[in-house]
Amino acid sequence: MEFIREYANWFYLIGAILFILTLRGLSGPKTAIAGNRYGMLAMAIAVLTTFFVAENPVIWMILGAMVLGAIVGIARAKTVPMTQMPETVALMHSLVGLSAVLIAIAAIIHNNKLIELGPDLLAANRVTFHEMSKVHLFELFVGCFVGAITFTASVFAYGKLAAKKWAKTISGAWVKPVQALIFIVMLAAGIHFFLTGNMTSFWAMTGLALVFGWVWIAPVGGGDMPVVVSLLNSFSGWAAAGIGFTLENNMLIVAGSLVGSSGAILSYIMCKAMNRSIINVLFGGAMGGTATATAGAGEQVQRNHRSGSADDAGFLMSNADSVVIVPGYGMAQGRAQNAVKELANLLKEQGVTVRFAIHPVAGRMPGHMNVLLAEADVPYEDILEMDEINSDFPATDVVLVIGANDVVNPAAKDDPSSPIYGMPILEAHKARTILVIKRSMATGYAGLDNDLFYNDKTMMIFGDAKKVVEDMTKAINGTGH
Ligand code: NDP
Repeated sequence: MEFIREYANWFYLIGAILFILTLRGLSGPKTAIAGNRYGMLAMAIAVLTTFFVAENPVIWMILGAMVLGAIVGIARAKTVPMTQMPETVALMHSLVGLSAVLIAIAAIIHNNKLIELGPDLLAANRVTFHEMSKVHLFELFVGCFVGAITFTASVFAYGKLAAKKWAKTISGAWVKPVQALIFIVMLAAGIHFFLTGNMTSFWAMTGLALVFGWVWIAPVGGGDMPVVVSLLNSFSGWAAAGIGFTLENNMLIVAGSLVGSSGAILSYIMCKAMNRSIINVLFGGAMGGTATATAGAGEQVQRNHRSGSADDAGFLMSNADSVVIVPGYGMAQGRAQNAVKELANLLKEQGVTVRFAIHPVAGRMPGHMNVLLAEADVPYEDILEMDEINSDFPATDVVLVIGANDVVNPAAKDDPSSPIYGMPILEAHKARTILVIKRSMATGYAGLDNDLFYNDKTMMIFGDAKKVVEDMTKAINGTGH
C-alpha cells in the first residue's frame, strides 16, 4: 500500500498514457478493440491507485458503490441493444455531471465543517486543514456549475433520444430571454459565492445551473441531438477535470481533459458534416422538432411513388456493373447487417462492384453504421465515407438505400426552406437507378418527407430491412445470374 502511495503519480502517468492510446485505438475500426482494452486497464489503474491514495477512506462505502455500479453497468452492457446506445451514452454523461456536483457539494461542506471545528479541535482530532484558496474555490465553482448543466442537459438528451413523453421540445419567443436571465443570475450567484464563500449563493448557483441545463437543451431539435450528445460528452470531461483540481487528483485532471477535448473535436467534426456551427445548433433551435415534424406529414398523401418486389430489385442489381449500398437507421433497427453482407458477397461473386457509402450521422450515433458493418465483417476497403463516394453516384448503376432517409434527402441541397437545408447528404438521387428499402412512406428522425422516394428513377421495396434483403439474395440465387 505504501508503495502505491509513494509512486501514485507514476501510476497515474501510466494510466494517462494508456488513456491516450485508448483514444488513438478508438479512432479506427481495426484498432478499436485494443483501444477499449487500454481504456479498461487505464481505468483499473486509476481506480485502484486512487483507492489506496485516499486519506481515511470509508472502505465499505467505496466498495459498496463500486460493486453496485459494476452490477448495474454489466447488466446494462449485456442488455442494451445497439439502437439504444446514444441514449445510454447520454445517461452516462448525466452521471458524470451529477458526480461533479456531489463532489463539489461534499468538498464545500467538508471545508465548512473544518472551519467550524476551529484550530484547537482540529489539532485534537489530528486533522490537517488548509483553508480553501481562491483558486480552489474557482475550480469548485466551475466544476459544480458545468457538472449541474451537464447533468440535467444529459437527462433531457436521454429522454429526447429515447422518445420519452416528458422530454418535450420547447419553443417560442420567451425561450431565449428566459435562458439568458437564468444564465446571468446563475453566474452572478456563482461570482458572489466565489468572492464571499456565501452558501446561499452556492445553492442558488447550483439550482439555477440545473434548471439552465434543461431549458438550454430543450429547444434543440431532434436532428441536432447527435451534436448535443457529443458536446455534453465534452462538458462531462471538463467538469471532471475541474473536480480533479479540487481533489488534487492528477489522473482525473488528465482523463477529464482528454474527454473534454476529444468531445469538443468530435462536436466540431459533426457540425462540419451537417454544415452548421455549434452556436447555431445550441442557440438557433433551427432544426426544431416541431417545425420539422409538421413539414412532411401533409404532402405524403397526394404524391405518387413506384414500388416493386425484392425479386425485381434482385434482378436489377444482378444485371448492374456497380452497386452502392447506403445503410441508415433502418438497417440497425432491423438488424439486417449480416443479411446485407451476404447480399453484397453474392453480387460480388457475380462480378458486380459493390461498395458501401456511410454518412457521418447515419443511424443514431457517430460511427453507428461502421460498427454494424464491422460486426458483419464487411471489408474496410469496401466502406467509403461521404466525401469519398459522392462524386461516384452519377456513374453508379444502382444505389440500394437500406433504411436510410434523412441522410439521402435531396431537400438538404435543393430546398432553402427545408429545416435540414445545408446539411451535406449522400447524393443517392444522382445514381441511374435508386432502390429504397423501408417499411412505409413514414418520415425519418428529422420528421421530413423525402423527394428521393418520389423520384422517377426510384423503386420502393416495402418491408422489414432484413426480410427484404434476404428475399433479394434468394431472388438473385434463384435467377442464377
Ligand atoms: P432516418 O431516421 O432518417 O430514417 C430511418 C428510416 O428507416 C425511417 O424512415 C424508417 O422508415 C426506416 N426503418 C426503420 N426501421 C426499419 C426496418 N426495420 N426496416 C426497414 N426500414 C426501417 O435515418 P438516417 O440513418 O437516414 O438518418 C439518421 C438521422 O438520425 C439523422 O436525422 C440524424 O441527424 C439523426 N441522428 C443521428 C445520430 C448519430 O449520431 N448518427 C444520433 C441521433 C440522431 P419506415 O418507418 O417507413 O420503415
